[in-house]
Amino acid sequence: MMPELLHYGGVPVPWTVAWTAEEDFFLDACPYAGGRLAICQKVERGEGKPRFGSPHVVRQRAAIAHGRCDLCGRLLKTATKVSLSQARPYLHAFKPGDILQVEPLLHKRCAAICMEHCPSLRSQEADGSLHIRQVLRWQAQFALYSEQGVFEACGERRQAISHAKVQLIKWIDRDRAWLGGVA
Ligand SMILES: [Zn+2]
Repeated sequence: MMPELLHYGGVPVPWTVAWTAEEDFFLDACPYAGGRLAICQKVERGEGKPRFGSPHVVRQRAAIAHGRCDLCGRLLKTATKVSLSQARPYLHAFKPGDILQVEPLLHKRCAAICMEHCPSLRSQEADGSLHIRQVLRWQAQFALYSEQGVFEACGERRQAISHAKVQLIKWIDRDRAWLGGVA
């Protein structure tokens, strides 16, 4: 799969961002969560308006399960992998000090594009809460949502997988200069 990078109002829309035509949630077995029951979402990418800051739950899991870039949706494979996140080392992680983040990883150039266009990343950068990391080792984890949370999203009182998380295991702290420009 080679997803097309969509734009809205001249701004690139990350592959994982949900569109307004996709606001319909239901429970189903999800291939990106090992076939387990998960909160799923109608797929109509590109229809309506992008909801920046609101990831499509299936594409978010697909990106993390398959190692796809948050912006372009293409496989990261052996490319330099970048984390742009406010997440800090988590004391109650599987291994203390690991970082758990819900943002899928990015190609380095895609991360630079996001920094150029995304107002919330820019404000996180300005207030010092954004971490730029080159990720050397990571793994996928899946969050189990409470019965109440699933009920509120899908109307059924059952436990199910919600989003995936990237568990950073080995990384190098980087800065904006290392990330470079988009040229
Ligand atoms: Zn990319």
